[in-house]
Amino acid sequence: MIDIKSENELKLISEVGKIVKLILEELKAGARPGVTTADLEQKAVEIIKKSKARSAFQGYRGFPGAICTSLNEQVVHGIPGNTRLSPGDILSIDVGVEKNGYYADSAITIPIGDKVSGNALSLIEVTEKALRLGIEKAVEGNRLFDISNAIQELAESHGYGVVREFVGHGIGKSLHEDPEVPNFGRQNTGPRLKSGMVLAIEPMINEGGYEVEVLSDGWTAVTKDRLLSAHFEHTIVITGGEASILT
Ligand code: MG
Ligand code: MG
Repeated sequence: MIDIKSENELKLISEVGKIVKLILEELKAGARPGVTTADLEQKAVEIIKKSKARSAFQGYRGFPGAICTSLNEQVVHGIPGNTRLSPGDILSIDVGVEKNGYYADSAITIPIGDKVSGNALSLIEVTEKALRLGIEKAVEGNRLFDISNAIQELAESHGYGVVREFVGHGIGKSLHEDPEVPNFGRQNTGPRLKSGMVLAIEPMINEGGYEVEVLSDGWTAVTKDRLLSAHFEHTIVITGGEASILT
């Protein structure tokens, strides 16, 4: 069942969404060559603490980090550590926060330094655009997989692979609620979208094939062909008109 949030719940999700947005802005500004992913996590932890909030990821099914940092061929769920960012890298940062019992979740992929390849920059650009097109379909009266289809169509038109194993999700009182929001699917299918539904839409797009595998740390998902991957995510609410972005 897809939960419909009340005005008050939407206010609380929007409040935590602002914290998530702030963290991503700060981490984007701080992600330079020489910085470690643990440094970025530390910064996130400070903001979360100052905001009297809590990381939604730390301890989730035993995840050891407060944020996810996924480099280059890493798709999602990379664990912050002593890896130093290098010029030419692309870094996906995923941030989920809970405050007052409500959750928001958002992710970005950013180029590190000024030596990032044109291929990598295109992948980032198309993935961000795929998120934007998906959000445009997230309107009352449309069906859920209209979102999925818009993302898939754009990504595949560029020859990219759309990750199947990880999907977006409903969010609000929990980090992951119904429904699953895949990044692939047929137009005009799936549940009808209604005002007050809150979704985390999150295309994960690979430069090559869509297959992924999980490294021996039990978390880090990488592309099977070790080509690059990008990830963008927003928490949005369906309204009578355009979806409203809460992160
Ligand atoms: Mg996320
Ligand atoms: Mg998510």
